Amino acid sequence: MDKSEARKSRRNFLRLGLGAGALSIAGLAGAKIASNNDPVAEKGVKETIKVLTPDGKLVEVEKTSILPPKDIFIDRKEAQKGIPGRKFVMVIDLAKCKNARKCIDACQEGHKLPHDHEWIKLYLLKDSDQTAPYWFPKPCYHCDNPLCVSVCPVGATYKRSDGIVLVDTERCIGCKFCMTGCPYSARVFHWKKPEVSAEIENIPYSPETNVPPKEGTVGKCVFCPDKLRNNELPRCATACPMGVIYFGDMLEDTVTNGTETVRFSEIITSRGGYRHMEHLGTEPSVYYLPPTERQFPWERGYEGIPDSIKSRYDNIDIIKETFPKDSNPS
Ligand code: SF4
Repeated sequence: MDKSEARKSRRNFLRLGLGAGALSIAGLAGAKIASNNDPVAEKGVKETIKVLTPDGKLVEVEKTSILPPKDIFIDRKEAQKGIPGRKFVMVIDLAKCKNARKCIDACQEGHKLPHDHEWIKLYLLKDSDQTAPYWFPKPCYHCDNPLCVSVCPVGATYKRSDGIVLVDTERCIGCKFCMTGCPYSARVFHWKKPEVSAEIENIPYSPETNVPPKEGTVGKCVFCPDKLRNNELPRCATACPMGVIYFGDMLEDTVTNGTETVRFSEIITSRGGYRHMEHLGTEPSVYYLPPTERQFPWERGYEGIPDSIKSRYDNIDIIKETFPKDSNPS
């Protein structure tokens, strides 16, 4: 299986897998039946696919029994409620990240963001002179004690029952208090009118996507609730070719990157999982697995990366040593 096929199968898997409750095996009973024109069915070959049951078991079902994703519009009022019975969590495996930046691309495409707006940022960290560098993807942490929410004077940003923190840009007055309140610099400001097509401009606004983007307002990672409602992973997790980002439901104690499904509690305890700046008491919903026993070379290189992004790393010694100016390693 080549990489694009693997990614496609990961997407398909998650379309089924993540929303174990919403699209459980029981929920498949009313699913569509194979068409007589289906070439696979005609040959008598039944394509199967793995799904996750509500009790966290992986099972294989016929691909044709799966409903296609639905276009679900969630308005501003409904968006405040959250998806019932869920408590979402993300686990980022730092041992796998190699700066592919596909998470950023997919996020920007999905939320119609300009290229200088990154809802998931990628930092190169080095804890001390003696230790190895590593890449550190940083989305909004969807804190259980979100300082951003407590400082918003107009209630434009809120915490939902499923753990997701959203921003309603129709209500946002652009004061930027939330940007100052967030200790993780997770939020970005639309200083100018986003350049989007007329088609995007006319999409009915939903805080679950923050599309269409709006000048003079604050945005940030939303954990892609529009995808979650269709039992798919957030865009960043689906797009990552290294399987860095696991996502799931704490109530099910299960997270998946689309190819590997694991018990959240087990992977956190066995791999020494932690939360960034835990001492702040913000209770993030995003956990990290330390970059030990790195699975890929960290130095992905710079091919295809715009100069404005490359220049961020110009003054980092390890980058200067590994990538002399003008080199373009693959
Ligand atoms: Fe708010 Fe920042 Fe926490 Fe996100 S990471 S919920 S923006 S305090």
